[in-house]
Amino acid sequence: MTTNKYGLEDIIRRSYKESKEYLKRAGIEIKGIRLRVLESSDLLQELYDMIKTYDIDKLKQELNTIDKSLLEQISNYDDIYIISKENLREFYRGEMYLLKQMYNTDDTKELNNKILKYIVLPIKENEHADGSSVSQTEEIYIIKDRLKKHIDEILKLNRFDSININGSSIIGVKSPLSAVISTPLYTEGKNIEEDVTKFYVGNVLLHEKGHRIVGRKKWDDEEFSASALQYIMYIDMYDLLKYQETYKIIKENIIECKKYVETFALLGYHIVIGDLPESKLKYVVGVLKEAPYELGECYANIIIDRNRNKNLNIKNVVEEVKNLSPLDAIKEIIRYEPKR
Ligand SMILES: [Zn+2]
Repeated sequence: MTTNKYGLEDIIRRSYKESKEYLKRAGIEIKGIRLRVLESSDLLQELYDMIKTYDIDKLKQELNTIDKSLLEQISNYDDIYIISKENLREFYRGEMYLLKQMYNTDDTKELNNKILKYIVLPIKENEHADGSSVSQTEEIYIIKDRLKKHIDEILKLNRFDSININGSSIIGVKSPLSAVISTPLYTEGKNIEEDVTKFYVGNVLLHEKGHRIVGRKKWDDEEFSASALQYIMYIDMYDLLKYQETYKIIKENIIECKKYVETFALLGYHIVIGDLPESKLKYVVGVLKEAPYELGECYANIIIDRNRNKNLNIKNVVEEVKNLSPLDAIKEIIRYEPKR
């Protein structure tokens, strides 16, 4: 076998299917998403170079005689398409054909620019992104080497190599997705690497699907809503709301979230007074840059706590987070006291 650590590809397939079934059960419909898995982020540069240097006349000819089975694979809504070094050229041709139909144009230059603008450059520029939701092409991209890196980080961060998990339990997991809160994970303690992989892939996929569910205009509103939805949907999808331990984690999270918004107030004060050293300012701004994500997850914790002992209706949650801004969330986090 190859570098398929923790059976990552299988887990992506399974999680994708599970999340699809979950959303169906919850009554949330997302119109057509094609899932693309990019084996490595290095392929972005290769694709970029390919687009810039491909012989246009040759491409036009190839698009006219394109293989029907490739078309089927590339436009499929149910299966996933894996992009590797070996089939990068094939993917590019298929994608061009697909966009040609979607946008009803033969202008290869325009289509090339769309691939660069919507797909290649955003994923390339945001080096931390494990995924990208591309509404213009009805796709979700997942970047496999970045996933692997972050999964390894979680294993280290939570010291999963050295702690002993005794039988079935719910544990709070810190992940690169958040500096503030933990996310509950159900494990039987037999194969924590696999559980963490499933955990992380599930969260990333639900985040990207969250983007497709909310579709907002401003980037911070968009990330706020997608993060809130991802957090709640993950917990609901794996039915973790039935465990006491989940609520314990949620309560601790809310306390951390309250501390987090306090730092906003303190920072604001010091900026006004003008006594914050330049070096410190840079650091704090760096930490707070992730605010729309952190606040989304914090707000999700409040929704879960508020709905304790009630049936959480995800459709209502979608409506709620769609209409809130990160600033609304700050006000609510300050005001909210966790249930006892
Ligand atoms: Zn996002």
